[in-house]
Order: sequence, then structure tokens, then C-alpha cells
Amino acid sequence: MATIGFIGLGNMGAPMAANLVKAGHSVTGFDLVPAALQALTAAGGKAASSAAEAARGATIVITMLPAGEHVREVWLHQGGLIEAVKDTKPLLIDCSTIDVDSARVVTAAAEAAGLAMLDAPVSGGTIGALNGTLTFMVGGSEAAFAAGRPILEAMGKNIFHAGGSGAGQAVKICNNMMLAVNMVGVAEGFLLAQKLGLDWGKLHEICSTATSNSWALSNYCPAPGPVPAAPSNRDYAPGFMTQLMVKDVKLSQAAAEATGSPTPLAALALTFYEKAMAEGGATKDFSVVFRWLAGQKRG
Ligand code: NAD
Repeated sequence: MATIGFIGLGNMGAPMAANLVKAGHSVTGFDLVPAALQALTAAGGKAASSAAEAARGATIVITMLPAGEHVREVWLHQGGLIEAVKDTKPLLIDCSTIDVDSARVVTAAAEAAGLAMLDAPVSGGTIGALNGTLTFMVGGSEAAFAAGRPILEAMGKNIFHAGGSGAGQAVKICNNMMLAVNMVGVAEGFLLAQKLGLDWGKLHEICSTATSNSWALSNYCPAPGPVPAAPSNRDYAPGFMTQLMVKDVKLSQAAAEATGSPTPLAALALTFYEKAMAEGGATKDFSVVFRWLAGQKRG
């Protein structure tokens, strides 16, 4: 069993770390939020007072942080994680969703210090994190992937090697761009159905087996009622915060701009999430775009 340092114990990191404990690994975690550390110790892990302390003696170090700036800060800054572990040489795994450039910069710094690193962002939401059924999309060398795979299997069900450094993040950015557009489509469908006098439960039952089916519709329905576990049934408590979805769609738009790729629907969807965010939805689940849309008039 591995000794694991886990940094970033938020909506995703907490249940992922708990699954590593359940699988028999020794997990020491760090987060800036004290309640997150208490949750880890309640789950059977140990709390550290810094990222470097969490990584001390670890054979695997995992980060699950909000964005590229946090990942660069934690790994690269003076006395940061790469410096702290360069002698013990654990395998480094960043599971955060960040821009491809940051992933490659951090990996290059790790490799310069003689360390192997994977970018391993996830899909499946907090429900997938809790159930240990996440999909991991992994960038890095074949050897690092083979070494990290058994650890990722304790947190996920589908583990894919996407390619070299940054490839995992590239897949993740495309995935979330598609999800963002799809969620708006599902929201529009359920709102139109309501105006047409349809019951949301009935619409969900039928469309779950029809051509409009999607993860957003069948597992994460933005209209309250049909999917009991969905954030729509608890006042859109996250889940996956709108501010994180805005971050990810912006990453996709920056990548589209850099590569000259047409993404007009994603560009429009981004404006909806930004408006939902500005109107009190920033820390709500991104499916709150349904409630924002419900408040709009047909222009
Ligand atoms: P979150 O904000 O709930 O958790 C992030 C945690 O990192 C917080 O607890 C925060 O205190 C901690 N943190 C920030 N800076 C830190 C530092 N310097 N040192 C230690 N801890 C620090 O976010 P989340 O929903 O858990 O998402 C984490 C990442 O996973 C994001 O990149 C997100 O885009 C991605 N993601 C989220 C979901 C989801 O459904 N929530 C799904 C897939 C991917």
C-alpha cells in the first residue's frame, strides 16, 4: 500500500482522498480550510500543516486544486512541493483541471528535478468522486502512467492514457466545453417542456432512452425532481461550481483562439454561465444555469 500526500481537499479532493484511505493507503492531506482537514481525519487520513509536510515521505503526491495559478503556486513557488520532494522522488499527479501550458510548465519543472509527473484531470463530478467511479484522462509518459494507474483505480473506474504531458488537460477542456453547451441544451428543453404542459419526470423518463439522452440529462438533470441526487434538488449546492465551469469554458475559448477552432455555441454558453455567476450563482452548481434561463424572456 502506498503512502500518499494529498493537497486540496475540497468538493472533489475530500471524497477522492477518502477512497484512497478506504483502499488501504496511508493518506496525509493538506488544505487551507481547517474543516477540510477535519473531514480527512474523520475519514481515517492524517492532517498536515503544509503541503510540504503532507508530501514528506510519500511515494505518491496528488494535488486537486481550483486552477492553474494554484497548481503553479503549490508546486513551483519557493519551498514548494517540487523542492520539498526532490530527494524522495515520489510520483506526482495533478488531478486539477488547468490550462495545458501550466500543466506542461509544472511537469517540465518536475522532470528537471528528476521527478515523473502526470496531468490526470477527472470527469464524473462529486457523485463520481464519492462512488469512486471517476473517469481519469491522463497525460504523461507510459512509465509514469503505468506507475500511477493502480492509485487512480482506487478513485475511478475508467482510466485513460490520453498521450504525453498536457494531453489529459486537453481532453478535459474539450469535455467540459461539450458539457457546458449540453447542459444549456438540456435546460432549454426542460423549460420548453414545462411551457408545453409536460411533466419533468415524464420528459426525463422518455428522453433518457431517446436521442437527446446525455449525462447532463440522465444523471444531473438541471430541473428539480427527476434525478434525486442532482444539485437541482438541493438549491444547486455544488457539485461543480459555476465559477469553475466558467474557468474551464474560458480555457477552451483560449485554446480555440490559439488554434483558430470555431466554437460559437461554447462562446454563447459562456455568456450564460457568466450571467448566472454574476447573479449570485458563482458558488452554486453550474446546473443553476437552468434557474437563470428560467428567469429570462424570449428576446
Ligand atoms: P474546491 O474549490 O471545492 O476545492 C479546491 C480546494 O483546494 C479547496 O478546499 C481549497 O481550500 C484548496 N486550496 C486552494 N489553494 C490551496 C493551497 N495553496 N494549498 C492547499 N489547498 C488549497 O474545488 P473542486 O470542486 O474540488 O475542484 C477541484 C478541481 O477539480 C478544479 O480544477 C475543478 O475544475 C476540477 N473538477 C471539479 C469537479 C466537480 O464536480 N466539482 C469535477 C471535475 C473536475
